[in-house]
Amino acid sequence: MSNDSPTQQELQKKLAEFMKQQFGDKVVFSTVMAQPESGSTNDGPEGSDPDAPMDFDFHLKPKEIKEHLDRFVIRQDDAKKALSIAVCDHYNHIRQTEQEEKSPDKRSDYAKQNVILLGPTGVGKTYLVRTIAQLIGVPFVKADATKFSETGYVGGDVDDLVRELVQRADGNVKLAQYGIIYIDEIDKIATPAGIVGRDVSGRGVQTNLLKLMEETEVPLRSPSDLPSQIQAAMEFQRKGKLKRETLNTRHILFIVSGAFDRLEEIIQTRLKKSRIGFHAPDAKEEIVQTELFRSATTQDFVKFGFEPEFIGRLPIRVICDPLSKEDLFEILRISEGSIVRQYERSFHAFGIEVEFKESALRAIADLSEKEQTGARGLMTVCERVFRDFKFHLPSSGIHHFQITEETIFHPEQALRDVLDAELLQEKSVLDAGIRDFCARFAQRHGLTLKLEPDAVDRIIERSRHEKRNVRDICAGIFKDYEFGLNLVKKNTGLSEFIIPAAALDRPDKFLSEMVVGSYRKDDAPPAV
Ligand code: ADP
Repeated sequence: MSNDSPTQQELQKKLAEFMKQQFGDKVVFSTVMAQPESGSTNDGPEGSDPDAPMDFDFHLKPKEIKEHLDRFVIRQDDAKKALSIAVCDHYNHIRQTEQEEKSPDKRSDYAKQNVILLGPTGVGKTYLVRTIAQLIGVPFVKADATKFSETGYVGGDVDDLVRELVQRADGNVKLAQYGIIYIDEIDKIATPAGIVGRDVSGRGVQTNLLKLMEETEVPLRSPSDLPSQIQAAMEFQRKGKLKRETLNTRHILFIVSGAFDRLEEIIQTRLKKSRIGFHAPDAKEEIVQTELFRSATTQDFVKFGFEPEFIGRLPIRVICDPLSKEDLFEILRISEGSIVRQYERSFHAFGIEVEFKESALRAIADLSEKEQTGARGLMTVCERVFRDFKFHLPSSGIHHFQITEETIFHPEQALRDVLDAELLQEKSVLDAGIRDFCARFAQRHGLTLKLEPDAVDRIIERSRHEKRNVRDICAGIFKDYEFGLNLVKKNTGLSEFIIPAAALDRPDKFLSEMVVGSYRKDDAPPAV
């Protein structure tokens, strides 16, 4: 939208100055201003023609889209239906226009089906749109409307959304022009009548967004991004032709959303006013917010603070419902994108299988509901509960664990229990390894090593610390014992030997003392 992008000549000059600054007179910067080939100014990234038919195949029906959404998004049936229809209309229309454009007399008038989504935070608004974009294979960009009003650099920012679409499409400009731009917190740029000051910028943002939503050409290189401008100039020099420089926004689907808390009051007031004269307003009568939202009129939105043209460009109004505790449980239980699947996957990456019991899912839903942030609460709770599990379990020997209600309500104790149980289990395996070493030693050499319990513990400790197998550690400690103990056996007739923990610190010394002692009758090693 900005017209102050530097010209090619200005860029050449800047580039020459830049080179001189960097390399002085060592580099000569010559300017070859080749003329772009005719018809090549609008080439796509791979020389693709942006006016060619869609390069993604859209043939879905609303029901198919809804069925796909059902796998991931719980509840929000109305929203799923409305969005499925809107998306089909939008992309079918693009296909039809592109066919019709070949015969201009057939061009039809069509108002783009941009969508406004209303509903509290964390109920699946973004998730619905992101899932649709993934299904149909178009790039998706999300931004917060508040970002635009804060910067004061209004025009540039909204254009950035379009450039981001191109990035998301890996530079495929053709695909980017069918992308979806999702702007959250749109209610924050509403400017109710009578308010001046900071909110005035809200109106400015609406105007800029309106231009995007209608149809405009957005420069692909940001005028404020000097490196990319330099790159453009260099490319121009090298190839003698320009890359496609703008993207037309006419086929981009815009979806805006917000919680619209103040709107409830506006609709209530209107409804009450309209009832006067028919029957007295009933003080007890309370319509839930989502029901009120369903009856919102354009006038209500204008009162809320939107320009009539702006709200007029958002003809599809979709309401998302708040999620109950039961819904949160269902998300955990059946949504294919549920956080539970994510945790299963991340533990699986460390070779750990986790099993969420139903009681655990109910407990997570319980705690999440208290967060009052919709399904976002699920993430907050899981993050809190599982952080230490994610830290400790990958370094333990645990390969499987069950998550129960207890785990969720008392995670610290549950982690201690699981690690203690693992230590016990590991200890019994290591114990068995040491016993096995001693049994083989006895079998092979006819000498029995009787390790005292603290000697066993000491070997286990070493095994954990050095991450070595107990058999190797024992083999190292007792490598000279066959010879030494046979001498003792010969001198004393004893074949069983008690090994205390102290012996393990200096096994050679311990053995030689035993051997020396065996030559003195009175100083024989202790009989077992
Ligand atoms: P918002 O309504 O604020 O846009 P999001 O769609 O970003 O909320 O929801 C945040 C996350 O919570 C999603 O990524 C998704 O994992 C989960 N979530 C939210 N609503 C639902 C839902 N209805 N069904 C399944 N998961 C949901």
